[in-house]
Amino acid sequence: MKTVGYAAQSSESPLAPFNFVRRVLRSNDVAMEVLYCGVCHSDLHTAHNDWGWTTYPIVPGHEIVGRVTAIGSDVTRYKLGDTVAVGCMVDSCQTCDQCHKGEEQLCREGNTGTYCGLDRITQEPTQGGYSKHLVVREEFVLRVPETLDLAKVAPLLCAGITTYSPLRTWNVVPGSRVGVIGLGGLGHMAVKLAAGMGAKVTVLSRSKDKTADALALGAEQLLVSADIDAMDKAQSSFDLIIDTVPVKHDLNPYVPLLDVDGTLVIVGQVGPMEEQNTVSMLLGRRRIAGSPIGGIRETQEMLDFCAQKNILPDCEMIHMDQINEAFERMERSDVRYRFVIDMASLPVPDTLVV
Ligand SMILES: [Zn+2]
Ligand SMILES: [Zn+2]
Repeated sequence: MKTVGYAAQSSESPLAPFNFVRRVLRSNDVAMEVLYCGVCHSDLHTAHNDWGWTTYPIVPGHEIVGRVTAIGSDVTRYKLGDTVAVGCMVDSCQTCDQCHKGEEQLCREGNTGTYCGLDRITQEPTQGGYSKHLVVREEFVLRVPETLDLAKVAPLLCAGITTYSPLRTWNVVPGSRVGVIGLGGLGHMAVKLAAGMGAKVTVLSRSKDKTADALALGAEQLLVSADIDAMDKAQSSFDLIIDTVPVKHDLNPYVPLLDVDGTLVIVGQVGPMEEQNTVSMLLGRRRIAGSPIGGIRETQEMLDFCAQKNILPDCEMIHMDQINEAFERMERSDVRYRFVIDMASLPVPDTLVV
């Protein structure tokens, strides 16, 4: 299937229109027209090859909402016209212990990324959702509940599940004391989801500037991390802290905020961190952990939870040709809180037979 998308041709080049081919439908495949695609920090890092593993050309995008346009002969869960979604992975081995548990994101062979991965059958590079069409095996397609506003669903597929999964893994229940460091795409979802689970949520921020936003998103308070007195008073007062900061930073001020057996979970920064003093970890039996996205089953559970509680990200809708400007604004943290591309804005060339 011929299609069109936006791709980077090198780490220096901006994203630009790109014609390419999606694979021929396999018996277990679902083909979709992409309606909306969220813009994740990983898209920007991958386009710029910040992590050193990008292959070019690269079509980013792994927060995808679409409509089913064709199904393979063995597909049973979806039919033409269904509203569906795809997140950060499109395949896994399906046979290891983690896949059997529904934790495909932790597949022993490594999951297949929606972009910058290799198709497990043909070894062709996978390309993401900044494109008109997508073909994905049925097991990695999610169902979008009908009551959700489609234009805002896309960021749930990465920012949503990345914050939902640790909240579930560390058993957040009504009354749990949850801290959220950073109030960007991930952080604002962490606040909404934790509040939706009945937790008492505190946003940790460098200044008071975001207090009104934090409260509006569902937090009970904002704790200024530069305020030494306030940080001292808040020692041992959290069960869980979700750290969404996407750059190298110092965890030493935050670990003492955890109560005994409390956990600080890193979901943002991928790479080295500042040197960690272990005293507060040992003396308080506190933990530092990391968490990636979630499995397919949990991602569906998250979508259904968001439908039930009417939780959606705050989005800024953009056109496809505004993507390079959006990347620049994201680097300045100038977005509230997630860009979503309206894929109807991507023109389809006359030469393209769909
Ligand atoms: Zn992402
Ligand atoms: Zn596996």
